[in-house]
Amino acid sequence: NTTGAEGGNGIPSQEDLKLYALQQKYTEEAAKRFRADGISQFVELKDAESGRFRALGEDPWADHAALNAKETVKNGAKYKIVILGAGYGGLLYAARLIQAGVASGPDDILIVDAAGGFGGTWWWNRYPGLHCDVESYTYMPLLEETGYMPRSKYAPGSELREHAERIATQWNLHDKALFRSSVKSVHWDEEAKVWNVKITEGRGPEEKSREIEVQAQYFVAASGVLTNPQIPKIPGLESFSGSMFHTARWDYSVTGGTPEEQNLTGLQGKRVGVIGTGATSIQLVPQLAKWAKEVYVFQRTPSQVSWRGQRATDPDEWKNKIAYKKGWQLERQLNYNSYLTNAPKADQENMVGDAWTQFRAYAAIVGSPAWGIIEPTPEKIGEHIARLYRIDAPHTEAARARVDEIVKDPETAAKLKSWYPTWCKRPTFSDEYLQAFNLPHVHLVDTNGKGVDSATETGLVVAGKEYPVDILVLSTGYRTPALGGGSPAVRTGVEIYGREGKPMDDKWQNYGAATLHGVCSNGFPNLFFTGLSQHASAANYVLTIEVSITHIVHLIATAEAKVGDGSRAVIEVTSEAEEAWSMETMRRAAYFSAVMGCTPGYITSEGEASQVSPDPMVMMKKARQSGWSEGLEDFMRVLEEYRAEGSLKGVEVTPVA
Ligand code: FAD
Ligand code: NDP
Repeated sequence: NTTGAEGGNGIPSQEDLKLYALQQKYTEEAAKRFRADGISQFVELKDAESGRFRALGEDPWADHAALNAKETVKNGAKYKIVILGAGYGGLLYAARLIQAGVASGPDDILIVDAAGGFGGTWWWNRYPGLHCDVESYTYMPLLEETGYMPRSKYAPGSELREHAERIATQWNLHDKALFRSSVKSVHWDEEAKVWNVKITEGRGPEEKSREIEVQAQYFVAASGVLTNPQIPKIPGLESFSGSMFHTARWDYSVTGGTPEEQNLTGLQGKRVGVIGTGATSIQLVPQLAKWAKEVYVFQRTPSQVSWRGQRATDPDEWKNKIAYKKGWQLERQLNYNSYLTNAPKADQENMVGDAWTQFRAYAAIVGSPAWGIIEPTPEKIGEHIARLYRIDAPHTEAARARVDEIVKDPETAAKLKSWYPTWCKRPTFSDEYLQAFNLPHVHLVDTNGKGVDSATETGLVVAGKEYPVDILVLSTGYRTPALGGGSPAVRTGVEIYGREGKPMDDKWQNYGAATLHGVCSNGFPNLFFTGLSQHASAANYVLTIEVSITHIVHLIATAEAKVGDGSRAVIEVTSEAEEAWSMETMRRAAYFSAVMGCTPGYITSEGEASQVSPDPMVMMKKARQSGWSEGLEDFMRVLEEYRAEGSLKGVEVTPVA
């Protein structure tokens, strides 16, 4: 029981009893969904045995002829900085490194990405209905520097990708990027004090791929969090004879339309099945409903769907209220973040003012400065979780009431209600999704938490009934970013060999996460990653990576200033400093125990993260993976104080001639 406080005289109050019943319901619903096979119920498209599934993972957007015509990177080429990833993270790295004067020469930067162009998430994902879910004014990076005004409060995918191009153009990055290329491994060369970076460059279906090795003084990774599309191992799926594709690789040749003009004429007269009801599906289903003859939505767990409030940007409001002064974007990002960390200042204006900013209990996974460090005792943890449930309950009740208000058929409405705390899955927002189920040709196939049983040549089977479909859309998400204990080597898919050839992944698997500020690790000099473990997080992922990148650029710039002109710097955190930082984050681990009651999903590695192990070593590794429990703004303060002190405490900087 985590409902905590009692009414007078030890007798539970009505509110406690209600909360207790709610919690029971959550537990029952979660129990339906826990599976012994955890994350192995899925296969990543790139690792699938089936050639058909592997092909679904290929880049549909790369212009191979144009890319093959460009001069490519020479084997043995030397760069100052190799950036892994050309998404918003990689672009931010490049822009900030250039701004700081760390990368000023023509061969200072090489950006490598498996994709055929800039954008990362926004390159790969082009499904109909795609938008950012965090307000574009706070989500799109470098708006002040580019002077760009997003066209609407929530930008569509095409505009988000366009913005990646804009950044690349402004910072002259087009000739500094190697696309269709996977970084396979990096090896620290102790003598030369550089990273040897092994890359496989894809050249499209007509040409053989190339193996290249380049040298880099620094290797920085911005490989993203949701980059590896996965599908469930549904028996018979491969035998489905109709068209089938994953949302992260939309097939407009089947559906008609383009990412910019989403006239899905190819769906006319067709029955479309969609597996999955996560954030992607919420955006997609209303678009399919406009064109297809029948839409079958196969649901395992309903998402919590709140109002969206999309609107065009008003240029006057933009000028006078939004982009109204230098530094406005960070101010707005932090204003927004303060609501999600349950710590808005009493008199402040809610600048973004959307449904996200009502989710005070989201603090369960992004931290809050409001409650200090939670002691790891059953009483304190119980109190903490009870508090979060209490803050969240009115909100989840309102979300369920919203379903009743919108969905006319009471049976369908009941199935669309979510029964888990808000923080267990990415919240979703739509003014069209629930409404779509009032249309006669949109059918909800609820699997009562079990998932689709099997597939046939002609459709999907649930509870013994076959649902024939012509086209099957796999809206089944991505590999969890926490795979491998959040090991940077696993996250990036790069084998990382540091000093004495030691693999970084061994360190993570044997001891757990070990970093300074979540961005670098002892034994791996001049290598940096954007924080996940031992770092704070925010609902706005761009703000999270901006915090990492600002810090990393400071570490490099300060170290270079220390060694002076004419020398290179080797930058490495000491093992004492990283252990001290790991202890700091471990002290904060108990705060995140509210995920224990969560329904499975990628946030909890399909429930694996919330299991308690009798092995203290396993629990210690979990604790080492912890985030910053006081939230991102507090974390920024800690990093700012560190930077202001100026000496790069705990970091060894060695000059190399
Ligand atoms: P990514 O954009 O994922 O880019 C990483 C790049 O690294 C990829 O292009 C990948 O190909 C490349 N890469 C990785 N490993 C290798 C390798 N070994 N070799 C070569 N290349 C490699 N977050 C929000 O805050 N708000 C949102 O609204 C939001 N919407 C989202 C919508 C979708 C559909 C998805 C999937 C995610 C969304 N996210 C959102 C999370 C989103 O991923 C981040 O906001 C952000 O775009 C990540 O930027 P990134 O550059 O760090 O990673
Ligand atoms: P999710 O992982 O959120 O959703 C996958 C869906 O597939 C879930 O509904 C899952 O059910 C379902 N599923 C898995 N296996 C089966 C099965 N065997 N049978 C039936 N259903 C199954 O992936 P998304 O692509 O929707 O979203 C991933 C993340 O990307 C989001 O959480 C968000 O962070 C980001 N995103 C943001 C968007 C935005 O608004 N800007 C849009 C899209 C994505 P179950 O829930 O039971 O596991």
